[in-house]
Amino acid sequence: MGQKEIRLPASPEGWAIHLSNVLKKFQDIHGLDRFPVDVTAIAQEYSKQVFPDEPITLVQGQTMSKKFEGMLMPSPHKKGEWGIFYNDAISSKGRQNYTLGHELGHYLLHRHKSPEGVQCTSRDMLDWKSEYAQMEAQANTFSSFLLMPLDDFRVQVNGLKGSMELMQHLSDRYDVSITAAILKWLSITDQRAMIVIGKDGFIDWSRSSDKLFASRVFFKGRQETIELPPQSLAARQDMLIDSVEGVKHPKNVWNDKEEVHEMTIFSDYHDMTISLLIYPKHAPYQPSEDDEEDGLEDTYTRFTKFSGLR
Ligand SMILES: [Zn+2]
Repeated sequence: MGQKEIRLPASPEGWAIHLSNVLKKFQDIHGLDRFPVDVTAIAQEYSKQVFPDEPITLVQGQTMSKKFEGMLMPSPHKKGEWGIFYNDAISSKGRQNYTLGHELGHYLLHRHKSPEGVQCTSRDMLDWKSEYAQMEAQANTFSSFLLMPLDDFRVQVNGLKGSMELMQHLSDRYDVSITAAILKWLSITDQRAMIVIGKDGFIDWSRSSDKLFASRVFFKGRQETIELPPQSLAARQDMLIDSVEGVKHPKNVWNDKEEVHEMTIFSDYHDMTISLLIYPKHAPYQPSEDDEEDGLEDTYTRFTKFSGLR
């Protein structure tokens, strides 16, 4: 076969799919398992072959301040060479792996825009669709699609209810944090579901699935101070309850109109709770188009009322 000029992708998803295909061919030939994806090997091998003038020559842990997850840095010694670093003060292997994917995303997509490198904080890495810089969102999308390709992810979750057990399975299979697995699941599920990250008794941030968001259920965790509902597993942290199995709360705990199944784990992110909330299949009411704004307001107001805030 003659050498064909390679057309390289431009989008985060395109890059991830391209690398997944390259990797899959290699794994098929050598009889290797597809998952978890070995990001370090890909970063070094792929960059060396496709960008020989700008290879990634170093991937390693480094002790950084707690707020950093990782960074992509040009070599101070050899022009053109790059290094990927993850914070080895963070013990979760899943987080480290996701960070490697994230930094590889920066390399593929942003190294020419940021020749001085990119440093990434925990916040940037987790919060996909927030107001945070587009570059961060792109690196997250890349990492998510590289580590958890949709073809396989769909097979894993097909027909299953959202549960912590399923998220644990996904986290193990792909070697990512539970949070990353839940966010991925939320992005494709047709269930009405939400992740809530709690910290110090308050909602740090949350994300609704599209279906739940469409029924106007979400929390503005970042813009407003919202207390965790006092009856929630996240707030109670009662070790006598099997919080992974979860509790089906009556109305007026998480939502004044709906019962909500809450499953909570106490996270590898220190002092944080990760709650997976599953709402009933159908929303209890569908506000008309006219009062769309009111609908949003109501959900929020109601919630703050029940959480004891005004
Ligand atoms: Zn980043």
